[in-house]
Amino acid sequence: MSYVSGFRCTICETIYKKDAITTYTCPSCGEKGILDVLYDYKSIGEVLTRDSLKANSDTSIWRYLPLLPVEDTYLSDTLKVGGTPLYKSKGLAEVLGTRHLYIKDEGLNPTASLKDRASVIAVIKALEAGISTICCSSTGNAASSLAGNAARMGLKTFIFVPERAPIGKLTQLLIYDATVVSVAGDYKATFDLSKAAIDHFGWYNRNAAINPYLVEGKKTVALEIAEQLDFKLTDWVAVSVGDGCTIGGVYKGFYDLLQLGLIKKIPRILGVQASGCAPLYKAFRTNGPVEAAEENTLADSISVGVPRNPVKALEAVKKSGGNYVSVSDESILEAMSLLGKTEGIFGEPAGVASLAGIQVAIQEGVIKKDESVTFIMTGNGLKDIKNGQLAAKEPIHMNSNVDEMIRILSQK
Ligand SMILES: *Cc1c(COP(=O)(O)O)cnc(C)c1O
Ligand SMILES: [Zn+2]
Repeated sequence: MSYVSGFRCTICETIYKKDAITTYTCPSCGEKGILDVLYDYKSIGEVLTRDSLKANSDTSIWRYLPLLPVEDTYLSDTLKVGGTPLYKSKGLAEVLGTRHLYIKDEGLNPTASLKDRASVIAVIKALEAGISTICCSSTGNAASSLAGNAARMGLKTFIFVPERAPIGKLTQLLIYDATVVSVAGDYKATFDLSKAAIDHFGWYNRNAAINPYLVEGKKTVALEIAEQLDFKLTDWVAVSVGDGCTIGGVYKGFYDLLQLGLIKKIPRILGVQASGCAPLYKAFRTNGPVEAAEENTLADSISVGVPRNPVKALEAVKKSGGNYVSVSDESILEAMSLLGKTEGIFGEPAGVASLAGIQVAIQEGVIKKDESVTFIMTGNGLKDIKNGQLAAKEPIHMNSNVDEMIRILSQK
């Protein structure tokens, strides 16, 4: 933790020295007092520069080690997280009518979602703390990602998921040999049960909002995007939002780069929620409190009725001059086939929700036609084939008959 200087509580804004904190959250605010990790940017600026990055051949997230809250002891053994491609779109940009559109394909991480960026940090922090068992509750991806990254490092995992978790993500968990508890109830019930287990057994807690280090892992997606664009960022960056840790991480990554003088301005951040579960969208648009919402969307990864990181989620958008939009399940399915058709990328519903959100933001005039956009595709579609099938068309059924084949395909 050589460059971590301390923590700031997102609620009471108290600043703590790094050795003063032995809990996950603020000692005076309790569970709601989510902490933000603070760094000594002056010292980081001496070791992390454009030139040092150019000379660094490590394409994993560990290339940003000075900006991460971990020691280098275990890093060479982990799964390779990060280094995912950023594509400049041709076909999709034309359909949307945006000037420049870039797609960050996070489905190419080792367990096929952006969550690996947080999980690998959790695994390292557990090893550093000498704890051999990690626990989390998750809508699916945080779980499968933790299980995979922990398996690689020889740690044991206990995972709590809601019954609705898609079979692809559940199967990943079981293959990585996690002990999986499938909870009859929604994500809130799942979260509460995992918390009781952690309190009782003393396991390492990978619940992303509570554990301040995980947003630090997630921020590497923003660091990569900036580097891949040679630090000339798009006007907007769009990302889907559940608990709010991912969008908080995206903001934090750009914030770090601003402190280091590597960028001049943080891009506007577009937060996208599903209309069937949009507590942060509602709070942002009404300037009111975050109220518990129903979890009524097929985008399971962002079906979070009680977001656990509301302050970071709302501030990311507010401070960047961005906005929130909400999108229907229908438009999410359409975005899934549109992305597959135009770019050859298969995303899960929550992964493409931000694409549907860009379309809504353009219609609402939030994103102007001449503005450029980066779209973070957060998870691979192979994890959730059932919803993929809802978005896809049928194959052509035929007998093994050459004449029939030629007759039918001639009409295509
Ligand atoms: C977790 C997740 C999100 C949202 O991240 P939060 O930190 O919960 O806001 C978006 N997309 C996918 C695929 C995810 O797994
Ligand atoms: Zn506090």
